[in-house]
Amino acid sequence: MPPTFASLSLAPSLLGVIAELGYTQPTPIQIAAIPPMLAGMDVVGQSRTGSGKTAAFALPILHRLQIDKRDVQALVICPTRELSSQVAREFRRLGRGLAGLTVVELIGGQRARLQKDALERGAHIAVGTPGRLLDLHNSGALDTQTIITLILDEADRMLDMGFGEQVMSLVRQLSPVRQTALFSATFPDSIATLSASCQRMPRRLKIDEPEGAQAEISQLRMTTRREDRFPALCSLLTTHPHESALIFCNFKSTVADVSRRLAGAGVSVDRLDGDLDQFHRDQVLARFRNQSIRLLIATDVAGRGIDVKGLDLVINYEVPQHPEIYVHRIGRTGRAGRKGVAISLTIDGQDERREAIEEMTGTPIAEITPEDLGDLDSHLRALARPAPMRTIQISGGRKNKVRPGDILGALTGEAGGLDGSQVGKIEVQAQLTYVAVEHSVCRAAVDCLNAGRIKGKRFRATLIGGSVARDGKTSRSW
Ligand code: AMP
Repeated sequence: MPPTFASLSLAPSLLGVIAELGYTQPTPIQIAAIPPMLAGMDVVGQSRTGSGKTAAFALPILHRLQIDKRDVQALVICPTRELSSQVAREFRRLGRGLAGLTVVELIGGQRARLQKDALERGAHIAVGTPGRLLDLHNSGALDTQTIITLILDEADRMLDMGFGEQVMSLVRQLSPVRQTALFSATFPDSIATLSASCQRMPRRLKIDEPEGAQAEISQLRMTTRREDRFPALCSLLTTHPHESALIFCNFKSTVADVSRRLAGAGVSVDRLDGDLDQFHRDQVLARFRNQSIRLLIATDVAGRGIDVKGLDLVINYEVPQHPEIYVHRIGRTGRAGRKGVAISLTIDGQDERREAIEEMTGTPIAEITPEDLGDLDSHLRALARPAPMRTIQISGGRKNKVRPGDILGALTGEAGGLDGSQVGKIEVQAQLTYVAVEHSVCRAAVDCLNAGRIKGKRFRATLIGGSVARDGKTSRSW
């Protein structure tokens, strides 16, 4: 009999939420990590994005949480802001049966004052990036003595990004009587050293997964000449059906070039590169998640931590130099049991890169060789359809006690007049909310939100992102 969530001895309130979320069976990392973590042991887990690792550590933390004590009892250190937000979201989702649960995100790029205020009001769980966590500790805002569980998430990426020193400085501030769990996709020596310096007799989790990420992802490649890469991309996009696709490039200049050419043809596209500030990056990601953008073109740095469910297609427009990056990129598709497709455009002479990837994943990448690429213009015409949704940004969020139901109510109530089926994903963030609505009703929806009140208050609603500009630039009408 495979283990069930109930057989892992989780609290009934958590089991109820798990069932509501439709998690029917624990994933291998959950089966391996939950029992030792409930017992307070240190663990080291090998895990990839999409394996369910967040719930693997979040559930035991929520189970053991003393909700009546408004102290930070668990700290999760993440390499990126996006991953922090994703982890905080999962904690809130899984913890929605715990009345009064407070999860704070302590990340760079946002005002430290607000985070200090949040800590002062009291929080149970803190999730954040090393630099900001250290600043908040040094300024006395984050009391680390109450923390009984520490999670180092994507530890290998933290070291890759040069956060090793900051992580260790933070760890030294914690009480030595604590539980520490470390999760990492890869296990180089540096991870063994990190584990040895912050854990006590950790239990190494063995995950019986059929070759990890690769089992659920069809990996394909197509060899082209460098100058044919763009027509090849368009041909792939028309022949591989997708709701939304993520296209990775190695360089910012390539991201700019590809998105300019697609947008110029009227394709629903936006881009994510390191030049974008946090605010606009959040907007782009929210629009991509809620189907207001069909294609997202990204560099690795900007694309880190992108959490998009049901992403059916990932394309490597340029094959990365390091196989680890390849694995990370394609991990975005085929998450938690969903099938995905990852296609790489390889160029003659890049066989070594491909072989290194195949060696690391243990899976050959199947080659597709089309008769010809077809006509570029007709591909572009086929791709030039609008995204199904538009995004409205509302100037109130969790801080204003806004809940998804309030927004849905305002839009579908008497004043709004929308049908529930015309409203898409509603993402309530700390300070603002993104709601997706069907194209045809977006103006009416904005007017209705601006005219009415939510929770008795007036908020400003604006359409963001715009439709695709024809002047060759992706429209950024925020
Ligand atoms: P993660 O690896 O934590 O990024 O999780 C990947 C996705 O799988 C998240 O969207 C989770 O909500 C979802 N998930 C986690 N555990 C389960 C489960 N046991 N069954 C189905 N989905 C899950």
